[in-house]
Amino acid sequence: MLNGQGAALRIQILIVLFVIFWVLSIIWVARDSLARTNKLSTQVISIMIVTLLSPIIGLPLYLTFRPMRLSHDKLPRREAAVMSMIVCYNCAALNPKDHEYCLACGEPLKIKCKQCGKNYPHSYGYCSDCGAPNIE
Ligand SMILES: [Zn+2]
Ligand SMILES: [Zn+2]
Repeated sequence: MLNGQGAALRIQILIVLFVIFWVLSIIWVARDSLARTNKLSTQVISIMIVTLLSPIIGLPLYLTFRPMRLSHDKLPRREAAVMSMIVCYNCAALNPKDHEYCLACGEPLKIKCKQCGKNYPHSYGYCSDCGAPNIE
């Protein structure tokens, strides 16, 4: 009787610890993905994976696919804005604003606005001409 209660209590403590670990993992992944990418879709998928698959499966999975370039690419991005240059979203190379393709890796630097058709840099949250959101 006493032993049975002890075991039940131990299981309850384990479940509580696991839930705490789960919640902390979700918070950590949310903060980590925010630091690594500006793409909302990547952030949502990262958080969903850890939330739905539990940290035991979700966390290693997130670590394998999370964006490798992290917050340090925010600094060149800020400098680039001052220098009126574009940071390549693919390789982080600096490109003059009038370039259409990255001089380092050849990826297109701009996307076409779905509303007005203007080309604007990938890093923009909104079209600089009509204000339509960048949903890439
Ligand atoms: Zn590039
Ligand atoms: Zn537009």
